[in-house]
This record gives sequence, structure tokens and C-alpha cells, in this order.
Amino acid sequence: MRPPGPLLRIPYTNPLPSPTIHPPFASTLPGAVSALSSFLLDPASSLNPKTVILTGAGLSVASGLADYRGTNGTYRVNKTYRPIYYHEFTASHAARKRYWARSFLGWSNLSKAQPNSSHYAIRDLAKLGLISSVITQNVDSFHPKAHPEVKTLELHGYLRAATCLSCGGEYDRNEFQKELARLNPRWDSFLQKVLMTGALETEDPVEKQRRGVIMNPDGDVEVPDAPYTTFRYPACPSCLAKPPDAVGTDGKKGIVEVDADGAWGGNSNAGILKPAVVLFGESIAERVKEAAEDAVDEAGRMLVLATSMATYSAWRLVKRAKDRGMPVAVVNMGGVRGDDVFFKDLEPEQDGSQGVRTEVPTQSLLPALVQELQRSQSRVFGSPAEIAKFEQGNRAIFKDMLS
Ligand SMILES: [Zn+2]
Repeated sequence: MRPPGPLLRIPYTNPLPSPTIHPPFASTLPGAVSALSSFLLDPASSLNPKTVILTGAGLSVASGLADYRGTNGTYRVNKTYRPIYYHEFTASHAARKRYWARSFLGWSNLSKAQPNSSHYAIRDLAKLGLISSVITQNVDSFHPKAHPEVKTLELHGYLRAATCLSCGGEYDRNEFQKELARLNPRWDSFLQKVLMTGALETEDPVEKQRRGVIMNPDGDVEVPDAPYTTFRYPACPSCLAKPPDAVGTDGKKGIVEVDADGAWGGNSNAGILKPAVVLFGESIAERVKEAAEDAVDEAGRMLVLATSMATYSAWRLVKRAKDRGMPVAVVNMGGVRGDDVFFKDLEPEQDGSQGVRTEVPTQSLLPALVQELQRSQSRVFGSPAEIAKFEQGNRAIFKDMLS
């Protein structure tokens, strides 16, 4: 199944068929809660009783961020949108200007967006002792924000930093934003104007478009006819101070030159700053790939949330779980790539402990699931008040026995 060569992040754009629900009663909210409770609590497995969670873009939609796919798995708000590819970013100064201009416009809104009920429900599931770790394909940092105490692996990196292609140094995205504003005062005035119209804050994509902006996934904002060629971005400060000995993008010794204000250019071939995300067409770092495999291997089940597993990097992790004999649950509105592979061996009468497939939205399902599990846990172990009452009852019985 594994393609030769490095593991690339590549979008899968074919339409996906509608899923078969497992067990059939998981088509309703109470049914899905019951099935997932059985899934998470099943004591039968000989593997680790804890679950590894894999999440995707659908989880952040309730935070106001755009998804790559719509609910039916094919429709997208902006059908003409095509994300930048790694080779374009590294090879072309013009492509980088365009990328950073659009990212500059999108960042203020993205940095204000907050985790939603699904992220906090994951925190609560972990508090119940049910979760081993989280693997996310999302680059919005909502998981580390909502549950810093839960081990989280960001498979495709994160937008909260920019990283240097030459030295690997990382820079805080908020500080980087200030540099972009300083180098591009007219773009900054334009951004302030757009922010004042509220066009970036409205949830309605049609209204956004009417106000002249198009929001795409991963903080990309498109403004038709904008003069992207005028945008400037800074060079890596450490590579500027000490040009790298290693070769630049053209195979020659590293050269880092900036204009009077500090914008990258001239004869530069190094010190290029890139978002700390795995761009499409870029390889996932070997250590990240291995950490993701370890996260799967140390768990006993896998719960997949709000992803169509459109990227092979995500799909192969679920396949790995299944091949290890781990039960798999998938919560996603719309089809999922290669879905049948994960559920074809389930017994028809199973209660969810062997596997779950449901389309109930995570933002209503996960908080309800947490409530149910908190209730059932207090039934098993007893809440402090219940235990006190039980002990009081015992004392009364013992007193009777003595008299
Ligand atoms: Zn550098």
C-alpha cells in the first residue's frame, strides 16, 4: 500500500461515497453516544485500553475556519481555490509574495479563532483516562490550546510559527505579522480597512465574497485583483546575520540579501521563511512520521474525528491501526476514503465495541458522549456524595447488627 519514496502531503480530490452506519443505531445522537461509549469502554481488547484520536479539518469548522471539503465530501465554498504547493513556494519569489500577502490578510482572524466544544470534549475524555494521545492534521493549534496536558502530535505542522528553509529556526507568527505590517504599510492600511468592514469576521461565505474577500482553509484570504507582486517579506534574521554554509535553493553557497527595510531579495538564495506547516506536496519529516506511528502503536483503539482522510498521511495511520487489530471508530459527516476497509469484518449485532461509523456532528456528539461517560463512571465508582451516603448506610446496618 505504501508508495515508494517520502511521505508527501497530497490532497485527494475524488468524490467520496456516502457511508454505511455501524452499528445501524448510531445514526441518531443517542445511538451514536451509546455506540461510542461501548467503543471507548470495551474491556475485551488485549491491547492498551486507551484510545488514540485522529482529527481533521471538520473539527475546526465550528470555530469559524474553512474546511477543504463540505459536508457531502465534495462541495467546497470556493471551488477555484488551489492551495500553494511546496515546490512553488521554494522555487518562486513571486509565489511566496502571493502566499505571504494572503496569509497576512488571514492571520488576524485566524489568530483570534478559538477551540470549540469538540476540542474541549477531547480534553474531558482524556480527564476520564480514556485517551492515550491526539494526532491532528489541523494546523490551527486548537488542540494544544484546548488541552495542553494531552499529548498532541501535529502531523502537518502549525501556522503559529514561521520556519527558515535554510537553518530551521522558528519565529512566532504574531511577531512575524508585525514585521510584515512594517514592510508593507499600504497592505497594512488595506487590512485595517477590511477588518473595519467586518468582512473577515462574518460567517457567511457569500457575504464575505460580496465584501470583496474570499476565505480559504489554513488562513488564506483571497482578494481579487490584489497587487501581490508589491508584497514584501523579511529574511530569516539568523541567516541574515550569518549566511548559511549549506547551499541555497539553487545549489550554490547561501546568500542572504535584503533591501534597506529588511525585505528578502537581491541575489538571495537562502534564509527564506515558510509557514511551519507541511505544505501540499511537501514531505512529512521522518521524526513526525515515526512519532505518529508510535502514537498509534501505543494505543488499543483509534477514534477518527471530522476528517475524510483525504490525505494519504492520515489514511495510512488508520490502516496501520486496523492492521494491528485495533477497533476503529469514524465520526465524519460525509464519505471517508477507503471506509469499507475499516468496517467489513464487524459482526452485525456488535454494540460499537468492534467499530463505529457515524455522521452525527462532533460538536454535538462529543459533549454528549462526555456527559454519558462521566455519568457511567460515577455509577461504577460512585460520586463522593454517593460514596458518603453508602458508608452512612453501612454504619446504620452495622449499628443494627450490634444491638
Ligand atoms: Zn535561517
